[in-house]
Amino acid sequence: MRINVSQQLKASIGSIRKYEVSEIVNVAGGKSMVQGEVGLMRTDRGILAKGTLHTEVEVTCSRCLSLFSCPLTLNIEEEYFPIKDVVSGASLPLPEEPGCFTIDEHHVIDLTEAIRQYALLAIPMKPLCRGDCAGLCPNCGHNLNQGPCDCLPQETEPHWSELNKLALASDAVVNEQKGTE
Ligand SMILES: [Zn+2]
Ligand SMILES: [Zn+2]
Repeated sequence: MRINVSQQLKASIGSIRKYEVSEIVNVAGGKSMVQGEVGLMRTDRGILAKGTLHTEVEVTCSRCLSLFSCPLTLNIEEEYFPIKDVVSGASLPLPEEPGCFTIDEHHVIDLTEAIRQYALLAIPMKPLCRGDCAGLCPNCGHNLNQGPCDCLPQETEPHWSELNKLALASDAVVNEQKGTE
């Protein structure tokens, strides 16, 4: 997503222009459609790009290992610094911020790299294809979202005994408190 900001660099500080974003961006090896609106604001140092974008990336469910499309919301806020003065054409020193984004010598900013970085950060560490993903059978590896497997249903029992233990423990606490009164 490339935007020429030469006019805006000449505008007064605080002036904002809005742009519709509708762009295919390569995120984590897959192509994702990114859509939303970005406002570009003239700052004392450059141009601040700010907006909310939406996209989806293909990720692997951490429980059942199936591929699914994970929706992401990207709250972009990045300042872009000109490498050339828009009026005089003189080279400008860049701020000493590592990895800062620049406005190239043709006064163009490219939002693609920022979008890619924000999307990578927005991908959950342990993605789930759905909140109640049943995962894989630890015995045979069957995807339990597609129905039960032929293994004996040993899985549900430990849960119940855990619950019973908890119930017994809380009873014991109640009794203890009664006893001390
Ligand atoms: Zn899953
Ligand atoms: Zn199984």
